Amino acid sequence: MAAPVVVVGAGLAGTSVVREIRKLDPGIRVVVVTADAAEIYAKPNLSNALASGKEPARLVQFSGEDWAARNRVELRSRTRVLGVDRPGKMLRTDQGEIPYGSLVLALGAQPVRPPWEGDGLDRVRSVNSLRDYEVFRGDLVGARSVAVIGGGLVGCEFADDMRSTGLQVAVFDPGSHPLGRLLPEQTGNWVRERMEQAGMVFHAGTGVVSVYREGNGLRLVDSRGESHLVDAVLSAVGLRPEVELAKEMGLTVQRGISVDRHLRTSDPDIYALGDCAEVESLVLPFVQPILHASRALAATLTGNPTVLRYPAMPVVVKTPSVPTVVCPPPPGAHGRWREDVAAEGVVSVFLDENDQALGFVLAGETVKERTRWAERMPDWL
Ligand SMILES: Cc1cc2nc3c(=O)[nH]c(=O)nc-3n(C[C@H](O)[C@H](O)[C@H](O)COP(=O)(O)OP(=O)(O)OC[C@H]3O[C@@H](n4cnc5c(N)ncnc54)[C@H](O)[C@@H]3O)c2cc1C
Repeated sequence: MAAPVVVVGAGLAGTSVVREIRKLDPGIRVVVVTADAAEIYAKPNLSNALASGKEPARLVQFSGEDWAARNRVELRSRTRVLGVDRPGKMLRTDQGEIPYGSLVLALGAQPVRPPWEGDGLDRVRSVNSLRDYEVFRGDLVGARSVAVIGGGLVGCEFADDMRSTGLQVAVFDPGSHPLGRLLPEQTGNWVRERMEQAGMVFHAGTGVVSVYREGNGLRLVDSRGESHLVDAVLSAVGLRPEVELAKEMGLTVQRGISVDRHLRTSDPDIYALGDCAEVESLVLPFVQPILHASRALAATLTGNPTVLRYPAMPVVVKTPSVPTVVCPPPPGAHGRWREDVAAEGVVSVFLDENDQALGFVLAGETVKERTRWAERMPDWL
């Protein structure tokens, strides 16, 4: 029997590449190895599950077994890959060895944990999986107040979701406004004002120093020396691509696992995509880039080598109290923002020296124009 395509990881990247392989080749042998239970769910739904009235278990679309049967995949769930014998083309896992012909790493990312102090740190949650979310939802039972550390995309989405159920939500961020790296100044202030009008408190220019237990709650001390007693704390300070296994295997790693535009790592039989991968210096931990990468990689793995192309990919921020769409300029792009800020909405455009639009932000009523704006953007790759 031919050595299979082995995909490590059953998140969006792993499952999407399998789905795309099956569209192209019903017969090729595919094995999926994953450390988790392989419950299939849409991770973006975690940050608006409260507003949609969904308990964590209801977010699961398929059990691993159902999904594997539908996709004719040999599934090894609850199986962690510990190392890879590259010359022997063999995975070493905590459940034994698995041979591969081609190997796909779809390992995701890990939450960053800054060096905060205090005896409450084990109750500071990060959410990057359904399992994490179940734990955090447990913290919200009976809670009235929540601190969110980090006002980026995921932090703002959770903050708005919790606000929608009547929780008091305070967001702490060292930047001057929410979605700091994605928004220029005036636009960021506009978004911040709308979040505050909706009832969230945004502690701008304020980091977190320590978190202590106090009664059933947590006392958070911020970088201004002020302290806040809350019932639950969510950390959303960012994710780091999962690169440890790739490093251990001797693959080239920068911020993520380095791949070329065929999603090929420094080993020609090993590929990577999703939150763990870095394609020509781009680490894009979002759904759309993963879907593009899955289609290109599936074609390559089924005998039609295909170069990855990224169009501009706007991200819809799931904050119903402040609808926002961001399409950042390509990393390293030179230019300036032109911000058009009105009461009902914002159109901010990043222009290069020839006044060519390279990125944009829409917020408020203008978000409905996102398709028109996206069509004007140059490809990212
Ligand atoms: C709350 C939240 C909301 C989001 N909302 C949006 C949104 O609205 N729009 C958007 O574009 N993006 C959004 N994102 C980002 C998007 O969800 C991610 O980019 C995407 O889900 C990542 O998929 P992945 O398969 O690369 O990683 P993961 O889903 O993290 O999957 C990694 C897999 O690898 C497995 N694994 C790791 N190491 C090993 C090992 N050694 N052995 C075996 N298995 C291993 C894990 O078990 C897991 O199955 C959101 C992210 C979060 C956290």
